Amino acid sequence: MKITDMLTASKQMLSFEVFPPKTETVFKSVSEAALKIATLHPSFISVTYGAGGGTSQYTLDLARRIRETTGVEAMAHLTCVSSTRATIHDRIEEIHAAGISNVMALRGDLPKDGTPGRDYHHACELIAELRATGYDFCIGSACYPEVHPESTNQKADIAALRLKAEAGCNFFTTQMFFDNHLLFNFLYKIREAGITIPVFPGIMPITSKKQIEQVLRLSNAYLPQRFRSLMDRYGDSEPAMRQAGIIYATEQIIDLYANGIQVVHVYTMNKPEIAAAIQQNLSNIIGMPL
Ligand SMILES: Cc1cc2nc3c(=O)[nH]c(=O)nc-3n(C[C@H](O)[C@H](O)[C@H](O)COP(=O)(O)OP(=O)(O)OC[C@H]3O[C@@H](n4cnc5c(N)ncnc54)[C@H](O)[C@@H]3O)c2cc1C
Repeated sequence: MKITDMLTASKQMLSFEVFPPKTETVFKSVSEAALKIATLHPSFISVTYGAGGGTSQYTLDLARRIRETTGVEAMAHLTCVSSTRATIHDRIEEIHAAGISNVMALRGDLPKDGTPGRDYHHACELIAELRATGYDFCIGSACYPEVHPESTNQKADIAALRLKAEAGCNFFTTQMFFDNHLLFNFLYKIREAGITIPVFPGIMPITSKKQIEQVLRLSNAYLPQRFRSLMDRYGDSEPAMRQAGIIYATEQIIDLYANGIQVVHVYTMNKPEIAAAIQQNLSNIIGMPL
């Protein structure tokens, strides 16, 4: 089922993101964690794709297994910047043949030396290519409430988003953020710019000090003082930080729903206990009419 078709039920939805194994050695443990998350029966699960193509086959395998063993709809991520047109063509055919109708179309990070892609430069080219197949994919793409690090300013970033919507993207999922005001401001600006497709906020529960250091290294996310206080107070106690991080993420999600957001996407980091705790905290809220 296409994710866009699920939206017509007009109910609050929770979806999860998982990542596939990077190597054959960890295939079993990583896949099992992801499948366990699928048994929680979120609205859908998205499966990330390795930037260098290393996990490309595993992405599709995992997405297929999630659908077949749990009946949960899966979305396969696909990045294009490090691939040739021929490879992308093959990947799209494989996705279609596997019965996956939801695709997250991404550019992917540029190589560390900044060399641009040979055949692809931006996600909108991949979106257009997916549309041109005529396969009736539901296509998602990424957006950045705090602006993509390569963009000179938010206006330019939003102009690029419009190109993705015009190329045939059906919805956007956001980069993680820790202050909902940033999301609400972003939504106001994109709607003003004429972008009308749904936006699914991406929420990352931060459950350890190590994880926050990683997040800050990889993204330019703003950390509100309220969050910093939690880290200062509980960062050295693993169970306390886990509990505080889950509650913080839950509160963010409730506030998003309360302000009219239909779908919240949780970055689970393949941790079933964290996905389950968030879902449990929202058990009387998920499924409520909009
Ligand atoms: C929800 C989500 C899921 C992700 N999943 C994965 C994953 O599975 N695997 C992975 O490797 N990475 C993933 N990423 C990371 C993503 O690949 C990087 O953030 C990457 O740097 C940008 O990808 P993009 O698709 O947003 O690129 P683009 O949309 O191409 O944007 C990249 C930059 O180019 C600008 N731009 C875009 N289009 C144009 C245009 N036509 N003309 C001029 N400028 C333009 C944008 O403003 C931005 O600055 C994900 C990110 C998010 C938010």
